[in-house]
Amino acid sequence: MSLTYIPPQIVNGRTVVQLEAEEVEPEEEKWNFALIVYIIGETPGYNAMSRYISQNWLNIDTPELYLHDEGYYVVRFNSITDMHIVYYAGPYTLSNRSIILKPWTTDFDFSKEFPTEIPLWVKFPNLPINCWGSKSLSRIASALGTPVFADECTTKQTRISFARMLVEINISRPLLDEITVVDPKGKYFQQTVTHDWKPEFCGVCQVVGHRCREKGKEDNQQDAQRKRKRSNKAITQEYRCKGPVQTTLTDGEQVKPLKEDKQQSQQLNEEKSVTLAGRVEEKT
Ligand SMILES: [Zn+2]
Repeated sequence: MSLTYIPPQIVNGRTVVQLEAEEVEPEEEKWNFALIVYIIGETPGYNAMSRYISQNWLNIDTPELYLHDEGYYVVRFNSITDMHIVYYAGPYTLSNRSIILKPWTTDFDFSKEFPTEIPLWVKFPNLPINCWGSKSLSRIASALGTPVFADECTTKQTRISFARMLVEINISRPLLDEITVVDPKGKYFQQTVTHDWKPEFCGVCQVVGHRCREKGKEDNQQDAQRKRKRSNKAITQEYRCKGPVQTTLTDGEQVKPLKEDKQQSQQLNEEKSVTLAGRVEEKT
């Protein structure tokens, strides 16, 4: 395409470029139905990823697949329905490596948010049956993060042994294994939380997928610096698109755990996981 010179503005001696809505919005629309796809460990090649999608994500029109230099894919679907079919049917794995999906938003910044804010499937075993309304489910799941979606069996109450929900959770903090809930009559109970998959999070490198060893901390810190440097590379994708429409359970209310002191954290997967620890192996 050909380009033309459009004079920038000068504000307080600085050059400032003003963008126009009618130019930006058509570009946004192209990315409204897109998911970020990140595979823990080694990023598969384009052909492998493309093959995985065509073999596993069925009942949708073939989406567009883009590989980003930062080590993740963007999958652009043909409709919001196609995107939801895939997003709400997880979790997925590729060669035993977990796949993290996240809706693309205008302000998506892989290096900032992606390693920590991750949608995870959680289960609430033996949740009292009077708590299965969308508001109550939303309140309970909000103790973990931002609720996104309740699976079909939970919504239709066709399976009542556990409720299952997709919740965007900050995994840099220990994942909760129970939540204190108080019913309208003032009766307290502890609701157990289980996870379909618990990601490892490395506090040293601030990334998901491994946990650095305590020994050789210096090395780890150098490694972390190197990784931060790498992650500070300019994001070349510059579309300013509106976030995809999300079916959220909440109406924006955030429910805090009722008793902070009751929260229990558990150190998970203390032993080094070989399958997910691609970056640990890298250093040895
Ligand atoms: Zn690490």
